Amino acid sequence: MIIASNVTKKFGKLAALNNVSATCNKGECIALIGPNGSGKTTFIKSILGMVVPDSGFITFNGRNIIHDWMYRRHIGYMPQIGRYPDNMTIGQVFSMMKDIRAHKTGKPVDESLIKAFGLDQLLQKRMRTLSGGTRQKVSASLAFLFNPDVLILDEPTAGLDPLSSEILKEKIKSEKDKGKLVLITSHILSELDELITHVIYMQDGNVQFHKKLSDLQKDTGEEKLARAIASVMSKK
Ligand code: ADP
Ligand code: MG
Repeated sequence: MIIASNVTKKFGKLAALNNVSATCNKGECIALIGPNGSGKTTFIKSILGMVVPDSGFITFNGRNIIHDWMYRRHIGYMPQIGRYPDNMTIGQVFSMMKDIRAHKTGKPVDESLIKAFGLDQLLQKRMRTLSGGTRQKVSASLAFLFNPDVLILDEPTAGLDPLSSEILKEKIKSEKDKGKLVLITSHILSELDELITHVIYMQDGNVQFHKKLSDLQKDTGEEKLARAIASVMSKK
C-alpha cells in the first residue's frame, strides 16, 4: 500500500532520514518508535508529502506520490500538535473540514469519535478556550472523520485522560480490523502492546529493524513491547 524506497532527507549536514526503505500493507498497525530526533516525524511527513526527499521515492498504491497528490484524500492524519484557527468553534472546524473534503471522497463521514468523546456537546466552544486534551480529541476526530484507508497518528494519546485514551485505542483497533493501515508513534510503549502488528525501530535516521511484533517477541523472549525493545537495544 505504501512503499518507501531508499528515502534520504538531509537538513544541512544532518541526515534526518538515511536510505529508509519500508513496505506498509493493508491491515497492519505499525508502531514507529525510536529516540527523539531519530527521524519518525520526518518519515511521516515524507509519506504525507509535507517533506520532499532528496533521493529515493515513496509510492502509494503503486504510484509515485510525487506525481499525484490526490492520494492524500485516502489518509487521515493526526499531528502531534494540532493547530486550528483560534476564533473558530469546534463545530465550525468540523464543518469547514467537511466542506473541503467530505464530498470529494464519496464516503459517508464517520462521526463516531465526535460522539464518543462528547464533542457534540461542545460544538459552540471556541478553539482558543480548549484544554490540550480536548484539542487532541478534535484532532483525533478529524483524522477518522472521512473514513480514510490509512491512518497516520503522531502521539495520538498524549494529553488524553485514561477513558478517552481507551476510546481512541478501541477505535484504532476496530479500523485496523476493517483492513485499514495504521501508522502510529507513541512514547508510551505499553499502550501499543495490544494494538500493533509490526514495529519499525528508527535511530539516527536509519531503520534499525522492521519486524512483526510476534517475531520480535519470539526473538527476544519478551512478551511486552517495552521489554522486547530494551532487550534488542542492550545487545547492540
Ligand atoms: P523524531 O520525530 O523522531 O523525534 P524528527 O523527524 O522530528 O525526529 O527529526 C529528525 C532530525 O531532523 C532531528 O535532528 C531534527 O532536529 C531534524 N529536523 C527535522 N525537521 C527539520 C527542519 N525542518 N529543519 C532542520 N532540521 C530538522
Ligand atoms: Mg516526532
